[in-house]
Amino acid sequence: MHRLNEQKQTPSSGPAAAATDATSRSRSRSRSALAGKAFAEQEAMLSPDAPAPGQQASGSGPARPAPAGPAAAQGAPPLAASALVVSRDPQYARPAFLSWFGQQISDKVSSWGRAADTSGLSIASDGPNQVVALNWNAAWGAKPVTRELDPMLRPVDAQAALAGVHALKGWGTAAAEARGTLDALLGGETNLLSEAARNALRPKFAGLDAKPEAEQVATLEGIVGAKDATPYLADERVESEPARVSVSAPAERAGYAFSGGAADALVYTATYTDGVTLEIVAPKAPDPALHQHSVTEAADAARYVPTKSRAVIKTVLLNTQVNPDDAYWAVEYNTPDFHSYMTAGASGVVTIYPDKVTQPDANGMRGSMIHETGHTWSYQQWGNDTAQGKWLVWKDAAAKDRVSVSGYAMNDIAEDVAETVRVYGSTKGKPKYDEYKAMIPNRLTILERELG
Ligand SMILES: [Zn+2]
Repeated sequence: MHRLNEQKQTPSSGPAAAATDATSRSRSRSRSALAGKAFAEQEAMLSPDAPAPGQQASGSGPARPAPAGPAAAQGAPPLAASALVVSRDPQYARPAFLSWFGQQISDKVSSWGRAADTSGLSIASDGPNQVVALNWNAAWGAKPVTRELDPMLRPVDAQAALAGVHALKGWGTAAAEARGTLDALLGGETNLLSEAARNALRPKFAGLDAKPEAEQVATLEGIVGAKDATPYLADERVESEPARVSVSAPAERAGYAFSGGAADALVYTATYTDGVTLEIVAPKAPDPALHQHSVTEAADAARYVPTKSRAVIKTVLLNTQVNPDDAYWAVEYNTPDFHSYMTAGASGVVTIYPDKVTQPDANGMRGSMIHETGHTWSYQQWGNDTAQGKWLVWKDAAAKDRVSVSGYAMNDIAEDVAETVRVYGSTKGKPKYDEYKAMIPNRLTILERELG
């Protein structure tokens, strides 16, 4: 039960995490500020307006150059086919910001012992637009396969990390299997798990080349399976191809049994193009003091849930009030503002609770629903005893994979399944999925077989 009671999309997700993870407890205090903002915040942190991650303490944001008119970039040469695109943002794709972008790239590559030469940066024209272009420097490593760089410059960081690690004398003495695991983990150009692994290794990498080979290998292997080398949640952008949905007119139902008390309800039927049908229940008279998702948002979020796990949803219940159990969990886990966002039971009811403060954005809602229905699906398919049957097959696959998609997944096997289903449902069919397949091939093979 407790496993199914959690507040996804907030840094402190669920009782298990709150009970065992001091970091999550402290982070949970800023829950309301962070709820639903994971992506927006991440992107904003690397816009030139804000200090880059790791620079907050020094406050060394970019110098704001005097506004440079569009004329400053006119006549830029066309974007070369071989060049990477650092930014297409018209506000920053200007000569005045090149040195700032150069500093970000230097910071990344030099942290892996690569030459901090960023003379390959330039302003180029791509059709009518100016872009920040980067000619790849072979001294940084192999050229990324990702051409359009994200604000975190993950592809640059990934290839520089691989080159730096491969240059260690101890690399060749590591077991082939460990090298394969590390290559997949550190070399992922777009995913959050690889980024977390690199960020965990980065401070340990400085000076590592002067250490004995055995210590080099131990340091590298130390990030494999380490909780502090994972993101807190597998909170990837949900990019899988969604089903389409149509929602019926509502039917009124008096005295519906919401969580916490009966109230009049409006019941809708959502019909998906892959043949799945479910009902969405909303209060007829929602509390205007609470933030609540709409029926349309609930129907939309479920579009992204894999067909076979969406098929186990009977009802999506937009509840009338916050989770009546929140007060209990607040005491139990010493988290005064504990708030359940979404819960799911093995019976197939997904309950979404309103919030006094805010609700997650569409992406957070989609990811949470994929995670929660991953619980429903796995309990229905594999049974309630996680020490038996296919749960053991999963456990074996996890042991072979060695790494988990998030710290939250490492709390227990049920969360590992739900978080891995979240990755599967969020990235299937996209390049990011292939990166995960290289890192956790055994578990994704199971999901391909069972959810595909
Ligand atoms: Zn969960």
